[in-house]
Amino acid sequence: MSNECLFCKIAHKEIPSERVFEDDEIVAFKDINPAAPIHILIVPKTHIATLNDLDKNHIELMGHMIHTAKKLAEEFKIHESGYRTVINCNSDAGQEVFHLHIHLLGGKPLGKMG
Ligand code: 5GP
Ligand code: ZN
Repeated sequence: MSNECLFCKIAHKEIPSERVFEDDEIVAFKDINPAAPIHILIVPKTHIATLNDLDKNHIELMGHMIHTAKKLAEEFKIHESGYRTVINCNSDAGQEVFHLHIHLLGGKPLGKMG
């Protein structure tokens, strides 16, 4: 855990969040400033700053995070209408919180990217 990291603090319950899933490895919670009716962040409990910091030891963890996104899409009933998963990396992508997270967005047409 990084003492200065917002999502480490949320993952370790030092800062409250609206949790929708948790297990030993990851936590998922509602985005505080949602960009869509469903906007959930899926976060590893271990501190990984950006996608650039992934190594081979994280492959199973990332698979688990993506699989959790799929399960949450079903739970929130956006799996048939559709949804988007996003991982922002560094400044050109607009990453604001430097603790790796997957955005799960849905519940309205999201438009084309770019
Ligand atoms: P990024 O821009 O780094 O990909 O995404 C960071 C996301 O975290 C943003 O969508 C932002 O709204 C969300 N966020 C920032 N601070 C908090 C917070 O304290 N609680 C929650 N639940 N979400 C946050
Ligand atoms: Zn962190």
